[in-house]
Amino acid sequence: MPKSPISSIAALALTAALVAPGSAHAQGSITIPTPGAMALIKEADLKADLFAMAGDAMRGREAGTLDEMRASMWTAEQLRKFGVQPMGDDGTYFQWFNMRRTRISTASSSVRIGGKPFALWTDATPTSNNEGDIVGTTVFAGDGSDETIDVRGRVAVVTLRPTSEGTRTTVNTPEYRAVRQGLTVAANRMQQRGAAAVIIVADTLGDRMFDAVAKLQSRGGYTVIGGANRFAPAGGGGRGAGAGAGGRGAGGRGGAAPATLPPRPVPVIMVRSQLLSQLRQDGQGAEIHIKTEQFDTPSVNIIGVVRGTDPKLRDEYVVFSSHQDHDGVRYTVDGDSIWNGADDNGSTSVAMFAIARAWVKQPSKRSALFIYHGAEERGLLGSLWHAAHPVVPLAQMVAVLNGDMIGRNHPDTASILGVQPPHRNSSDLVGMALEANRRTGKFVLDSIWDRPTHPEGWYFRSDHVPYARLNVPALMYSTNLHNDYHTPRDNPDRIDYPKLTRMTQWMYLTGWFAGNSAKRPTIDPGFQLER
Ligand SMILES: [Zn+2]
Repeated sequence: MPKSPISSIAALALTAALVAPGSAHAQGSITIPTPGAMALIKEADLKADLFAMAGDAMRGREAGTLDEMRASMWTAEQLRKFGVQPMGDDGTYFQWFNMRRTRISTASSSVRIGGKPFALWTDATPTSNNEGDIVGTTVFAGDGSDETIDVRGRVAVVTLRPTSEGTRTTVNTPEYRAVRQGLTVAANRMQQRGAAAVIIVADTLGDRMFDAVAKLQSRGGYTVIGGANRFAPAGGGGRGAGAGAGGRGAGGRGGAAPATLPPRPVPVIMVRSQLLSQLRQDGQGAEIHIKTEQFDTPSVNIIGVVRGTDPKLRDEYVVFSSHQDHDGVRYTVDGDSIWNGADDNGSTSVAMFAIARAWVKQPSKRSALFIYHGAEERGLLGSLWHAAHPVVPLAQMVAVLNGDMIGRNHPDTASILGVQPPHRNSSDLVGMALEANRRTGKFVLDSIWDRPTHPEGWYFRSDHVPYARLNVPALMYSTNLHNDYHTPRDNPDRIDYPKLTRMTQWMYLTGWFAGNSAKRPTIDPGFQLER
């Protein structure tokens, strides 16, 4: 991330402009003193905890594996050591929930081309969960651009054209993203033209990424049944509304059904480049049988509380939020296959340890909840679940302070998301965060990430979203994307610990203001997310 050119005056002007006029907590109006306990936030503790949480021994903490369970037990044990009380199920730190997994069934799926069987995942890899039983003949459609080739009802063979056009940084090897995007473009094109199934022949880059595509596709998709609506309308539903169906509404976002119905999803297979000469011949026999299997697998949120000191305010809660999971053991990149997730999101998880140490020593008037959401990388599943099954009523949550990736990039810049409309849902809370920054990290705020136009859609990619949608004041702290994001290179030795310490102080002090202010942060009238 290049050094932000923003001058301090411009930054201050921008900062000042970020608080809605007339907000009760405009900058400088907050007179709550900085507590002495902030000194308990120590760089050495952050470093030691992060090397423990994101070291290779934790194997990337993938949801749905023993590794997330081990990391969750370890996290709860830290909270217990600090004196944070359990707030999960049955007096424990754990709120259990099931993830629903849907993946291709290797046992019930098969591919035969030209009478020859192809081993699933090694010779031929499905590139989606689309099911089908197709027995037909192939037609070669080249790179797919020649629309005169009739593929209707046939098994269309098309060559892969990797492209980075229209890709978001999900898995951060650009080669993988380009191949994935090329597969999507080719498959959509052939489906639009009525193919019964699609065989995509890899090019050299496709060959190189073949195992990565197979490995990730074989994991399948995840959702949470009974979680908050992923796309519940914001502002309209009010607190507690929208709990229930975790699936998508008709038309994706609950809008009217689109004019042209999307093509019927058909099985799509990628094969290696050496098959090209054979598959150029039209009329090859092809038998493609793709079946999926669905099953539940457990994940867990870890929840602790530090009770407030004020009898009137202690039933209101400031929520600190992170996710303990990451991407586990995946395909090898430069000899390393453990995706450690030090910045994502070990950084916020250990920041919350430091905040908890200080909070236990000097609690605020309101209570503080520490929530580690499980299975965030699988689609915000833990926060969708908790937002629908909150351990305290959403109406009693005065602020959700979520962090995601707070330990990298330029030492003097950082972002806070949920600060600019349409993402801002509480100017009061924004005012508290800006004042806290002024007293702690003094970061120059990089505001582009919070814009609805940002290509990465960063605001929508972490655990504050389900709460914001249900009208809980919410913010996300981040130092944003970098080249090691979602790769095995996101290691503890690449974290900027002095910066992480300042980010931790920033989150802490914002929470302290929300935990002690006479007036709790309120929701801005008319709050409405753009999607
Ligand atoms: Zn994350």
